[in-house]
Amino acid sequence: MSPTEKLAPGAPPAADFIPLIVPEICGNEWEYVKECLDTNWVSSVGTYVDRFEKLTAERVGTKYAVATVNGTAALHIALMLAGVEANDEVLVSTLTFIAPANTIRYLGAWPVFIDAEPNHWQIDPNAVIDFLDKGCRWDGHALVNRKTGRRVKAILPVHILGHPVDLDPMLDVAAKYSLPVIEDATEGLGARYRGKGLGSFGQTGCFSFNGNKIITTGGGGMLVTNDPELAKRAKYLTTQAKDDPIEYVHNEIGYNYRLTNVLAAIGCAQMEQLDTFVDAKRKIAKRYQEALSTIPGIQLPNEADGGYSTYWMYTVLIDEHQSGISSRDLLRELGMCKIQARPLWQPMHRSPAHQQDFDFSCPVADGLYQKALSLPCSVGLKSDAQDAVIEAVNSVIDAHRASSRAR
Ligand SMILES: *Cc1c(COP(=O)(O)O)cnc(C)c1O
Repeated sequence: MSPTEKLAPGAPPAADFIPLIVPEICGNEWEYVKECLDTNWVSSVGTYVDRFEKLTAERVGTKYAVATVNGTAALHIALMLAGVEANDEVLVSTLTFIAPANTIRYLGAWPVFIDAEPNHWQIDPNAVIDFLDKGCRWDGHALVNRKTGRRVKAILPVHILGHPVDLDPMLDVAAKYSLPVIEDATEGLGARYRGKGLGSFGQTGCFSFNGNKIITTGGGGMLVTNDPELAKRAKYLTTQAKDDPIEYVHNEIGYNYRLTNVLAAIGCAQMEQLDTFVDAKRKIAKRYQEALSTIPGIQLPNEADGGYSTYWMYTVLIDEHQSGISSRDLLRELGMCKIQARPLWQPMHRSPAHQQDFDFSCPVADGLYQKALSLPCSVGLKSDAQDAVIEAVNSVIDAHRASSRAR
């Protein structure tokens, strides 16, 4: 975790330090939180929880939303709702933050890591289709992985960096094999696929309101769905699976995964500003696009047809041969200019935490991991700060190209 993603209280960064991504708290947050404190409604029930759920469902375009303590908890519950059990398998993006892969293991199930596609860096629908069509067989009751003999139970595509996964082919193949789709849309709030909000396509969709996400509650999450039974069960499982309104009687193991009213109050205030935040992010992306497109060796992100990206985390690819510098060296040199950049996540098929008895081959994700670099893109990033980033990237690459030519 980088320093700005976990700032010590009372220790603001130096004035000329440009952090990767920090929250923007400039709406009704104080007012709503104060109301919670003044009225004593601070804990896990309250009008702000209900309102935040309603606002999120409306925004995403689903009938129901259930607030959770964080995005990881939402994913954990979503997998339970999909019927995932120990020794089942779930297809998941290899190029992702680790949380979705971890939640599969929480249930004793196993992730099947799927490679990324090279154009928008999302999970490759063709690789999913290929695995299901060729890597699995139907044993009369269930779809079974030919290699492991385990049942394949769900598909968990992760919309990364604020851009949508190509969902149509994914949903088609999921329907063909009756597999539930769980969308990890934690990085994709406000983004759209063919005009509809991410998170609204699958059986369930999951969101996070961690400090570096497009809106934040400090920490929080949400599970969305159109299915009233699943919504009810999500509420139940996140509330210790209490079965009687009065008596403490529980028929199942549940979890304490609820979001507090205080945090939901922040969430309501943040959600009111989502459109403004997305606009700001898209402007920042456009500015980077204009300024960086002429620099040799940098490949910029772009939007797919039918996709609407929030550019949540503005990420570029650095080609070492053309630019004269690797993404990691550029990261270090930007750091020396007090500019915080970040690599992408180690792909899950490479993660020591997720080793299995055999190797997954995901060459596209490997290449992206090596080249990717995320640049400062806070909603509140000022244009002079962005200019400083552009200038620094430009001059570092210039210097390295000159010295690699001289050699
Ligand atoms: C942030 C994130 C999560 C987890 O959210 P938390 O609220 O931090 O638990 C899950 N998946 C992805 C892709 C994320 O970026």
